[in-house]
Amino acid sequence: MPRPILAQIDRAAVRHNLGVARQYARGRKVWAVIKANAYGHGIERVLPALDTADGVALLDLNEAQRVRDQGWRKPILLLEGFFAPSDLALVTALQLTPVLHHVAQIEMLAQHSPQAPLEVYVKLNTGMNRLGLDTNELAPALQRLQGMKNVKVAALMTHFANAEDLRPGVLDAALLRFNTPLAQWAGDTSLANSSALLLQSQVGGHSVRPGIMLYGATPAAGTPVTQWGLRPAMHLRSELIAVRTLAVGEHVGYGGRWTASRPLRVGVVACGYADGYPRVAPDGTPVAVEGQLAPLVGQVSMDMITVDLTDVPQAQVGSTAELWGAQVPIDVVAERAGTVGYELMCALAQRVPVQMVE
Ligand SMILES: *Cc1c(COP(=O)(O)O)cnc(C)c1O
Repeated sequence: MPRPILAQIDRAAVRHNLGVARQYARGRKVWAVIKANAYGHGIERVLPALDTADGVALLDLNEAQRVRDQGWRKPILLLEGFFAPSDLALVTALQLTPVLHHVAQIEMLAQHSPQAPLEVYVKLNTGMNRLGLDTNELAPALQRLQGMKNVKVAALMTHFANAEDLRPGVLDAALLRFNTPLAQWAGDTSLANSSALLLQSQVGGHSVRPGIMLYGATPAAGTPVTQWGLRPAMHLRSELIAVRTLAVGEHVGYGGRWTASRPLRVGVVACGYADGYPRVAPDGTPVAVEGQLAPLVGQVSMDMITVDLTDVPQAQVGSTAELWGAQVPIDVVAERAGTVGYELMCALAQRVPVQMVE
C-alpha cells in the first residue's frame, strides 16, 4: 500500500467557483488565472473545468505551451509578458497575449518586429510599484506601439496592491491613478483580481482576472469563502499511522515543544512539511480526524504531524485525517501558520499523489 497521503482535486468545485466569478463579473469577460500550475492544482487537471472562461492567464511560457497542448484555443494572457526577444517567436506561434509592463519590452518589440499579428495588453502601475508603466510613460508607449507593424494594443490593465482593503479611499486612490490617463484610451480595460471582483463593486473594466477564488480560498484574510458560496478545490487527506497514550509530563515531537498536562491519546498523521504542510503551524492548528477536530500538538516534522485525539475517542490506526479541504478550510490553516491559502496550495509537494474527484 502506498503511504496514505492524497490530494484530491475537485473539478466540479472549480467549475462552480468559475460560475460564481461569472456572476460577480456581471457580463465582463473572465480570464481564469492558472499561473503557478493552477495554484498547485495542476493545469491539465483544472483546465477542463474552465472551458467556459473567455481566456486563461499565466506567466510561464512552458505553462502556455501546456495549455495549447491540451487543445485550448481561446486567448492566453501572459501576465509578465516576454522576458527576452528570443521569446517572441513562441509568443506569436502560440498566439499568446503578452502584457507589456516596462518600456524595455516595448524596445524589444521595436527591435524585433513580430512576424505575425500580436495582441498585447499594456499594464499601468497604480501603486503596487512592481510592474507597470507610470502614468507619464503611457502616452509615448501607446504612440510607439500604435506605429508598429503587426502589433495591436488590445487593452490597458492594472493590478491593485490593496483590493481587499475596504477602508474608504484606499482603492479609490489606485482607481484614480488608472482612470486619469484613460482620457487617451478608448479601448478595453482589465482591473479586477479576485478581491476586487468580490469586494469592490465600483471597479469596472471589460475583463476580470480571478485566481484564488477559482480554487475556493479567500483573497481577503479573515473573510471565509462561504460568504461568496465558493467551494474548496483541494482536499489534502491522510491517515493516522500510529496512536499512543501519553502520561502527564510527556512531550511530543522534536524539541518537546508540547507537553501533556493530562493523560491523553495522540495520533500520528502521515503528512509533514515535505508534503507541503507548513512547518510553522503552531499547536492548536485544526486537523479533522474522522470528521472531528483534533488539534495539532508538537512540532511539524518532515513526514508527520501529531494531533490530540481527546475529542475523537474512536480514532485508531487507519482513521482518516483531513489537513485542509471541506472540514478544515485551507484559510484557517494558513492563518494559523501566518500565511495565506495561496502559499499552501502552491506548496503542495510533488511527492503527494493526486486524485481527481468530480
Ligand atoms: C495572480 C494575478 C491575478 C489573480 O489574483 P488573485 O488574487 O489570485 O485573484 C490577477 N492579475 C494578475 C496580474 C495577477 O498576477
